[in-house]
Amino acid sequence: QHYLKRIETLDPQLNSYITVTADQALAAADAADARLARGEGGPLTGIPLGQKDIFCTTGVRTSCASRMLDRFISPYDATIVKKLQAEAGMPMLGKLNMDEFAMGSSNETSWYGPVKNPWDVTRVPGGSSGGSVAAVAAGLAPVATATDTGGSIRQPAALTNLTGIKPTYGRVSRYGMIAFASSLDQAGVVARSAEDAAQVLQAMSGFDPLDSTSMDRPVDDLVAPLGRSIQGLRVGLPREYFADGLDAGVRACIDGAIGELKKLGATFTELSLPNSPLSVPTYYVVAPAEASSNLARFDGVRYGHRSAQAKNLEELYEKSRGEGFGPEVQRRIMIGTYVLSHGYYDAYYLQAQKVRRLIYDDFRRAFEQVDVILGPTATDVAFKLGAKTDDPVSMYLNDIYTIAANLAGIPAMSLPCGFKDGLPVGMQLMGNFFDEAKLLNVAHQYQ
Ligand code: GLN
Repeated sequence: QHYLKRIETLDPQLNSYITVTADQALAAADAADARLARGEGGPLTGIPLGQKDIFCTTGVRTSCASRMLDRFISPYDATIVKKLQAEAGMPMLGKLNMDEFAMGSSNETSWYGPVKNPWDVTRVPGGSSGGSVAAVAAGLAPVATATDTGGSIRQPAALTNLTGIKPTYGRVSRYGMIAFASSLDQAGVVARSAEDAAQVLQAMSGFDPLDSTSMDRPVDDLVAPLGRSIQGLRVGLPREYFADGLDAGVRACIDGAIGELKKLGATFTELSLPNSPLSVPTYYVVAPAEASSNLARFDGVRYGHRSAQAKNLEELYEKSRGEGFGPEVQRRIMIGTYVLSHGYYDAYYLQAQKVRRLIYDDFRRAFEQVDVILGPTATDVAFKLGAKTDDPVSMYLNDIYTIAANLAGIPAMSLPCGFKDGLPVGMQLMGNFFDEAKLLNVAHQYQ
């Protein structure tokens, strides 16, 4: 009731929810109470959450913030929805706003309008998980799910003073999560602390036979090791992440955090990830290529928007897709189709896959020397709404520090490390495969 009331009074300003499921939330809360009264349930039973509107929820619209799916009601639940709601007992408050099909860094491509940053409503909350972070930062949900294909958990967490973690590729099931770029997409969580994030990530992780890329490996305990000392932790500082382009005020916050971590016993080494400047161009070949293929299913025939204007089959495809997809999604489909087309495939797509391997090799070498890598999450604090909407390339460059982790498949998180001009600054921690517990431990010790 507390959260539903806050949503009612504050969300008209923030626009963080696409759908609020008040009756269902209250019924689920009653069921959680009954479970707890029987001595059943766990640490999350009865704790409400918001779900990013990219996760399929039976009986509740799953729009992916697109006109294409404005009236789509899924006949099944995503695996993480089952795990968090049915199994862990978390009542869902509603479905959260996002960039259309998770394509964006500012939550301005949503069919349902932009989300505002609760720290300054003239600024963006980051994207694509802008609704998830705005809701948690403003106290309209204690925690929220999110997804990260190139930074969509970490960058918005940084811009709203939250802790967000993208686990190792394959750690959390993608079943029922609407696909953007399947080899990069991972689900995770945004929360107010590393401890909250650990609890929720623990509950959503694990092998799922319904996702062929899910890893069949036991889930580590993420909560118990939070209290461990980080004395002797080896931290790498990649030269390329502290070069030109990083705002001086952001840098000062990160330097402050490095000082704090030294006091806790961590040691620091400078290192190089030489191929990191290639991560944005590589991503903007691989991600649109996969998106163009994934989004081919929205043809106006099987589900989703169907144009009323079409006179023949060809027109049905053209008009349904032309009306259903916004400009950024159409741009990605065109880029992706181009780089996969005969004659360009070798020059772009295949080349990008080779560079992707080099980016992965940089991390492999780095983790022979250090336990975690630390750097900024974003180049600067939250920018003004509309500031980058006319310039897609400057928007794409937002993701310069976050994309490499997706290309390599490694876990990465963002946590708050200070303020510049009253706006939150985040720092990023990257770890080796399946080192989520270590990242969360460092973040909890710092917090
Ligand atoms: N901003 C990036 C993009 O637009 C990343 C999005 C994401 O992680 N979903 O592709």
